[in-house]
Amino acid sequence: MMMDHLKRYIFLAFLAASFRLFAESPVDKVNPLMGTESTYAFSYGNTYPAVAVPWGMNFWSPQTGANRDGWMYSYAQKFICGFRQTHQPSPWINDYGTFSIMPQIDSLVFQDKLRGASFSHQNETAKPYYYKVKFDNGITTEIAPTERAASLRIIFPKKQEQYILIDGYDGGSSLSIDPSGRRITGYVKNNSGGVPSNFANYIVLEFDKPIEDYGLFYGGKRYPKALNSTHDHVYAYLKFNIGQKPLEIKTASSFISLEQAQLNLKREIGIASFDDVSSKAKQEWNKQLSRIEVDGGTLEQEATFYSCLYRTLLFPRKFYELNGKGKPLHYSPYDGKIHDGYMYTDNGFWDTFRAVHPLFTLVYPSVSAEVTASIVNAYKEGGWLPEWSSPGYRDCMVGNNSISILTDAWVKGIRSFDAKTALEAMIHQANNQGPINSVGRNGYEAYNRLGYVPYPEFSEATAKTLEYAYADWCIFRFAEAIGDKAIAKKYRKQAFNYKNLLNPSTGFMGSKNGEGKWREPFDATEWGGPFTEGSSWHYTWSVMHDPEGLSQLLGGHEHTAYMLDSMFRAPNTFKVGTYGFVIHEMAEMAAINMGQYAHGNQPVQHAIYLFDYLGKPWRAQFHLRNVMDKLYHANTKGYCGDEDNGQTSAWYVFSALGFYPVCPGTTEYALGSPLFKKATITFETGKKFIIDAANNSKENIYIQDAFLNQKSYSKNYLTFDNIRKGGTLKLKMSQIPNAKRGILSKNSPYSLTKFNE
Ligand code: CA
Repeated sequence: MMMDHLKRYIFLAFLAASFRLFAESPVDKVNPLMGTESTYAFSYGNTYPAVAVPWGMNFWSPQTGANRDGWMYSYAQKFICGFRQTHQPSPWINDYGTFSIMPQIDSLVFQDKLRGASFSHQNETAKPYYYKVKFDNGITTEIAPTERAASLRIIFPKKQEQYILIDGYDGGSSLSIDPSGRRITGYVKNNSGGVPSNFANYIVLEFDKPIEDYGLFYGGKRYPKALNSTHDHVYAYLKFNIGQKPLEIKTASSFISLEQAQLNLKREIGIASFDDVSSKAKQEWNKQLSRIEVDGGTLEQEATFYSCLYRTLLFPRKFYELNGKGKPLHYSPYDGKIHDGYMYTDNGFWDTFRAVHPLFTLVYPSVSAEVTASIVNAYKEGGWLPEWSSPGYRDCMVGNNSISILTDAWVKGIRSFDAKTALEAMIHQANNQGPINSVGRNGYEAYNRLGYVPYPEFSEATAKTLEYAYADWCIFRFAEAIGDKAIAKKYRKQAFNYKNLLNPSTGFMGSKNGEGKWREPFDATEWGGPFTEGSSWHYTWSVMHDPEGLSQLLGGHEHTAYMLDSMFRAPNTFKVGTYGFVIHEMAEMAAINMGQYAHGNQPVQHAIYLFDYLGKPWRAQFHLRNVMDKLYHANTKGYCGDEDNGQTSAWYVFSALGFYPVCPGTTEYALGSPLFKKATITFETGKKFIIDAANNSKENIYIQDAFLNQKSYSKNYLTFDNIRKGGTLKLKMSQIPNAKRGILSKNSPYSLTKFNE
């Protein structure tokens, strides 16, 4: 009996140990297909399975759509027409510098729309560090990424004619075949805008098996044995006769030169095997993902969390490269020259200033240092701070959120850029009309004269006013931090400009023309016009730097909280306004069925946390858990709207930890309701911050009591120092709200109004 007991004990101990040994690493919890079942009309994320390393210069993705179709990979599609090196940040912005590789058997088909091979998702494996698909025709393709290179492994079925097709895309491509050297070199462009005319992506591909035959295709004709061509759209093909031996392709690229592409290939892959490349990429992901460890949730919650963290760590991408001595340099998408130093790109700051960059300043400050240095480099090279870069200035969205990103980094101790140059860039951005509306300040003269951007004189004028007022607050904070009192004073005053568009007769943000007349009739559910991809229901909350001042205008805490709750209770109807048709964001708001709350788009994503400023943190806790439960899933329909370069994901990452950066540029994070029983953040310094909510559950969503480093804690926010110095936030959770905790004004996070000049 004793013996049996012992045996059983040993067996269980063995089981526990093997479970630990084989427990999935964070990267294996990631589903890169989350959000890929999207279409032009309806977005479940508008994502593609990016096979890449964090912030990599190149991503790889299977391509199910036609060339130039922004929906590069749609889960519902049945055919793949290539494996593509991509730089696409969003289907709406599209790709640049892309090319694709397609293995074929029996006969060559060049055109993308004709050459798709059928596959089933059962024969597809998608990981951030590894992708594999077996086509119905028997060809298997695997991909493993590095920052600027990739390794592909292709296995053909037996006894077939075996081809590799390289599609250089339209818009200018040049390909050269070196049959005896088993190599293809050249460049591709397919520029979608925003770059100087000398822009090119230089590519090199090396094959590990002898090339039996080869040729080019362009202008609708095939040229057997042709060695090189430059044309609008060049394809190259190689024929192999290798049976079922794997064909390994090593490829890299450079925006600088072909020599640099070869250097990138040598440095990042060299003689490494496919499996080595893949396992190194896996390690790199685990290193970054395990900075945040979560425990005590369901497998589905863990998968959702790490899938969201993966998305948050993809963009902006490294656009810089390393020279022979390991020093960073870059081709400038702004002036077309080669410069020393960092450059990152493919980011819409209108989206990502909210939570992506604040996650970097908190958890990945070394990345934030490079990104902010690169934003100042963009100003030096192009004359403007970028707002939507891909890879140069793109005309998309509104606001001066580059200023928020620089300010947030500065107040969190990041010193990778020159403060004087940064302040000069900010003031320049705020007081000039750019060559396109998305850089500089569209409507700045009117804004400076009237204190608001008038509508209809300027489109999206209220959205612009609110974003400019927040950017002005950021300039105030930055100038104050570096000791420029005169600038600080001027912009502090302008930070209150949001007040000019709160219409006292409707109790909502409205719009006024240049004569000061309110636009009527007003309907809070009408999209467009003075707003950007939203309605007044969404923009009325866009006063991140002064929720207290906003609340006073709206009639006080009780009424403001009532309005916030009403947003969820209101019918989910909308008017299409100046859009004239249903844009996908409207359809997505209606679909989530949370009234006027439109979590699928960015302007309203901080709004739930405003309850923390109103002495009702339990209302935030209620809505946050509801949104986390209902609107995020680690599956192909997993997001409730565009994912947008990590922003919608970063909302979940922060919210699941239990706090959120409502106002980047402050050092505070509003408290929510953590999703897991325990979460541990390990900083680059090695210090740890633990969120311990041991009795958390699906029902116990309310914070009954909080203790920071064992001391009772009544605030509705944490500070940067609290978190980064390391420590423990212990939360006692409950099914019932504690209506006595966090109710005093001193418990609320930062509002400008609360501080005298
Ligand atoms: Ca969006």
